[in-house]
Amino acid sequence: MHIRDMLAEAERTGEPSFSFEYFPPKTAQGVQNLYERMERMYNFGPKFIDITWGAGGRVAELTCEMVVQAQAYLGLEACMHLTCTDMGVEKVNDALRKAYKAGCTNILALRGDPPRDKEKWEAAEDGFRYARDLVVHIRKTYGDHFDIGVAGYPEGCDDNKDEDLLLDHLKEKVDAGASFIVTQMFYDVDNFLRWVKRVREHGITVPIVPGIMPIATYASFLRRANHMKCKIPQDWLDKLEPVKNDDVAVREIGKTLVAEMCRKILAAGIRHLHFYTMNLAQATRMVLEELDWLPSPDRPLKQPLPWKQSLGFG
Ligand code: FAD
Repeated sequence: MHIRDMLAEAERTGEPSFSFEYFPPKTAQGVQNLYERMERMYNFGPKFIDITWGAGGRVAELTCEMVVQAQAYLGLEACMHLTCTDMGVEKVNDALRKAYKAGCTNILALRGDPPRDKEKWEAAEDGFRYARDLVVHIRKTYGDHFDIGVAGYPEGCDDNKDEDLLLDHLKEKVDAGASFIVTQMFYDVDNFLRWVKRVREHGITVPIVPGIMPIATYASFLRRANHMKCKIPQDWLDKLEPVKNDDVAVREIGKTLVAEMCRKILAAGIRHLHFYTMNLAQATRMVLEELDWLPSPDRPLKQPLPWKQSLGFG
């Protein structure tokens, strides 16, 4: 199913929905552990999951493998991230073929981060320069088979802080054929809502999916926010800093803060949230619990895992 249809359904029914993002782990054991966790987290009720794209041979292959695993064995609708970093057109086509064969119908088209050993991003020989070019290529090659999402930046991106220019480029990506936008993580909701208004003023009408990063520990919270150069509201720091060495207390306070932020976003009319799980279940589960969004006997999972259904456990 296309993500745009899932988002339209959430709009139509007014029922909030959410999705999870995972990244390919570095070791074989890590991959196995993640599959088990993905299966457990299926029971939280995500509409779909994203698998990020890492530059380089084995990591890129792993993204494709994880998409196959999610689609074919876990029965999870997967959105495959695909970037232009170190990707000539043949490599792009190969990844798209694998996604197509796996039954995947959703791609998040990105320019990509620079490889670890390079500071500046450079296009591969016979590759694409901007995410927009990738969107054009996917539409040209596959018509409407893939639904395509693109990235949006409420607080600017690494190599560009000029909001107007970024909005122009966002519009180009949408005009090229993207049908939804997923944002970079943020904690400043007022700024996010201001940005959404500016996106709309720019004539961009497709759904915007906010990227939500739950808080697992104080150190990881600060590290990720600083890495993304994302603003942390002072009252968040005032509440979290005094308990920074107590992970349990940080998660408790963090879940309240993040859930409050989610409620404010929903109150503004946005119906779908995307959680950056960092491949962990606990912090995301706590936020969903706080929002009272986890399945319960009164509100069962709509689609139990296919193999459980066939064994009569559904
Ligand atoms: P683009 O939209 O192509 O923009 C890149 C830069 O080029 C910007 O500065 C933009 O303003 C500029 N630009 C765009 N079009 C033009 C033009 N026509 N003329 C001049 N300049 C232009 N990275 C990964 O490596 N793997 C992932 O899986 C991944 N997933 C992500 C998921 C989300 C939701 C987000 C928000 C980011 C993700 N990233 C990922 C990071 C992303 O790849 C980087 O932020 C990257 O630097 C920009 O990617 P983009 O797709 O936004 O690029």
